[in-house]
Amino acid sequence: MKIAVIGAGVVGICTAYELAQDGHRVSIFERNASASEEASFACAGNLSPSLSHPLSFPSQPATSRLRAMLAPTPITVTRGATLSELGWLKQWKTAGQNFPERFVAAQRLAAYSLERLHSLTTQAHLTHEQASGHMLLFQSERTFLAFQDQFNALKELGLVGRIFTPTEARVLEPGLSTDGPLHSAVCYAGDEVGNCRQFAQALKDKLLEGGVQLHLGTTVSAIAQGTGIQLHTDTQGSLDFDQVVICAGTGSAALLGPSLRHLPLNRLWSYSLSAQIKESFSAPRSAVHDCHRQVSLNRIGGRIRVSGGAELGGTADVHNEKIIKLLYQSLQSNFPGAAHHSRSMQTWKGCSIFSPDMLPLIGPTASPGIWLNLAHGHNGWSMACGSARILADQMRGQPTGLNATLVHPGRFKS
Ligand SMILES: Cc1cc2nc3c(=O)[nH]c(=O)nc-3n(C[C@H](O)[C@H](O)[C@H](O)COP(=O)(O)OP(=O)(O)OC[C@H]3O[C@@H](n4cnc5c(N)ncnc54)[C@H](O)[C@@H]3O)c2cc1C
Repeated sequence: MKIAVIGAGVVGICTAYELAQDGHRVSIFERNASASEEASFACAGNLSPSLSHPLSFPSQPATSRLRAMLAPTPITVTRGATLSELGWLKQWKTAGQNFPERFVAAQRLAAYSLERLHSLTTQAHLTHEQASGHMLLFQSERTFLAFQDQFNALKELGLVGRIFTPTEARVLEPGLSTDGPLHSAVCYAGDEVGNCRQFAQALKDKLLEGGVQLHLGTTVSAIAQGTGIQLHTDTQGSLDFDQVVICAGTGSAALLGPSLRHLPLNRLWSYSLSAQIKESFSAPRSAVHDCHRQVSLNRIGGRIRVSGGAELGGTADVHNEKIIKLLYQSLQSNFPGAAHHSRSMQTWKGCSIFSPDMLPLIGPTASPGIWLNLAHGHNGWSMACGSARILADQMRGQPTGLNATLVHPGRFKS
């Protein structure tokens, strides 16, 4: 089949790869001048089957709607938040229905995706920066106890976190400060951290070698259905395809036709700081998460990446100084001396798309020939390779490696 993939972020690139592997003729359309310039640009890098980095998955919701509404969230609401964004927040806070099943579905998808990432790395001979293990730091007994529900839920799924004393944690992460309070740490050995953009770029190069067409600097303005699918583009006019997959991140909503506009997608902004590591032994060895501040402190090759925050409303160019200060504080109190602060620190604000039930939308739509692979929230890097394989299997009518019922776009009724 002749298939168009809209979006060259990590999800679109992985999708194009799997479709090309299945023998389809694939063309990717990307509005930016290069791949991975939007959400996949400088993400924290966690590849987390433990779902333990910020906003991976909300904790077990409160028993009543009122309690759920009043419960604190890691989301900052900006002054610019619209009524529809506030409506989404309400849905997100009170989406208690089938929580355990959704948690399991997210965890299985992240685990499946990590397996796929490993096999794809070998198959396509890719090299990318990667490290294993994920340490969660609990500064107080209160933060440690708050994690117990998730700890137990993961244990039931066979993901057993190892609990360490502060002294043991500092043996594993020698750069950890001895000054600040530390109650305990939990490690998930099966989690990893990797360079999302570098991986996507390397895979894109393989795609080009294999004959996939990549149309950079090309915005798709509309999708029309006739005997096949017609894409309207700004640089090449109208082009015909048999099928189209929308992996367009923040650009997806504009492409969804009237029959799909009911999908409750929303944007959240997050931040990352990246800096060259000053002294290797003072920096994290892999992924570390400051649970008190909800900030990730990850080693990505020769750099440290500090990320956190979740903002509802706002724009790309207005930065939330409070969140940025929090990231600096977390770096300073956990790994002082790790980074060349003023010389090389880069601040980035990125936007991810979320559904209220925190699961992505993967699969066919009610419009024949139009498929979705989007709304992975804060797990897009963790879930990209697995989601791509699931979608490719669906498109060729084969059983998928995982049950995809809970991620089916049809779960949100119009
Ligand atoms: C600060 C931060 C930290 C994060 N940390 C993690 C983490 O640790 N682990 C994790 O798993 N995830 C993390 N995430 C989430 C992850 O980065 C995203 O889920 C993932 O990158 C989404 O990939 P994507 O390909 O769907 O979207 P994108 O990377 O945004 O790609 C979509 C592409 O579509 C293109 N496009 C849009 N509309 C059009 C159009 N009309 N025509 C042509 N092209 C179009 C865009 O230009 C863009 O390149 C983080 C996100 C942020 C912001």
